[in-house]
Amino acid sequence: MLATPDGPVKALAGGTDLIVQMRQGGLEPHALVSLRDVPGLDGLRLDGDGNLVIGSVASLGAVENSRDVLAAFPGIAEAASFVGSMQVRSRATVGGNLCNAAPSADTAPILLACGATAVITDGKTERSLLLEDFFTGPGQTVLEPGELLKAIVVPPLPMTSFARYFKSFRSAMDCCTVGVAAFVDFAPGSAVVNDVRLALGAVAPTPIRARAAEALLLGKELDGALIDRASVEAAGDAQPISDLRASAEYRKVLVEVLSRRALNAARAWAEKGAKA
Ligand SMILES: Cc1cc2nc3c(=O)[nH]c(=O)nc-3n(C[C@H](O)[C@H](O)[C@H](O)COP(=O)(O)OP(=O)(O)OC[C@H]3O[C@@H](n4cnc5c(N)ncnc54)[C@H](O)[C@@H]3O)c2cc1C
Repeated sequence: MLATPDGPVKALAGGTDLIVQMRQGGLEPHALVSLRDVPGLDGLRLDGDGNLVIGSVASLGAVENSRDVLAAFPGIAEAASFVGSMQVRSRATVGGNLCNAAPSADTAPILLACGATAVITDGKTERSLLLEDFFTGPGQTVLEPGELLKAIVVPPLPMTSFARYFKSFRSAMDCCTVGVAAFVDFAPGSAVVNDVRLALGAVAPTPIRARAAEALLLGKELDGALIDRASVEAAGDAQPISDLRASAEYRKVLVEVLSRRALNAARAWAEKGAKA
């Protein structure tokens, strides 16, 4: 049905983006296909290897409240809890948040930082790719007509790692003005950065990695001076625009501030662990 040549057909998950876009008049699909009862798209589980498998129609409320997610991936639960209100999160899905492909989508930076993979299906075959390669522009993804996002798979986080999302927003129920997520893995018993992914939301046409900041951090002890330099570098990685939420200049400042906040939190976490 999604691949019909009759006209654009849209998948309907929670509808909290799609129905708004239709009511505002810009979008007039030929038909909607509800994903609610499509087998294989739902569920939220840890597989035998410790991967978190999030079915694309899992609600953000389910992610926020899942014991498995809270225990093993608290940064993902926290990011889900930042979306809209409880009412929105009870309908809104992870798949909808990602497939809507807003640069400001709140689940994208933390999932990018955690190294998540997107599983895509056309009903007959499946393909997987890193989530950071899923987005191609504002509202655009690699999905071909007839394809669905089936699931997101997040690899287990090392015990020596920290992952959290920091969101700046104007008021409750608002998408982020800027979002920054940090995954930092430390060499055991130290504050030396073994592995790092810093992901930014709402500062480029898609959610992005702050590659220059990551390169600066890798292999070094995470002290105050390094955090300052990396946060400035992250602001350089951002390519924001000015819009109704903020000017480009202010967004750059926010990237620096939130990166510093995230890296300071990672450092505090490592120091606590090193003392334990
Ligand atoms: C009041 C309000 C507050 C909000 N606040 C926030 C916020 O703070 N942060 C934030 O990030 N977002 C926010 N949103 C936006 C929205 O709630 C989220 O993006 C939500 O996760 C969308 O999920 P959905 O299931 O409702 O998607 P839908 O509206 O059903 O779908 C969105 C798009 O994705 C496509 N799609 C959905 N699922 C799939 C799939 N499995 N495969 C392929 N395509 C698919 C649809 O065709 C559509 O184009 C808010 C929305 C409202 C109305």
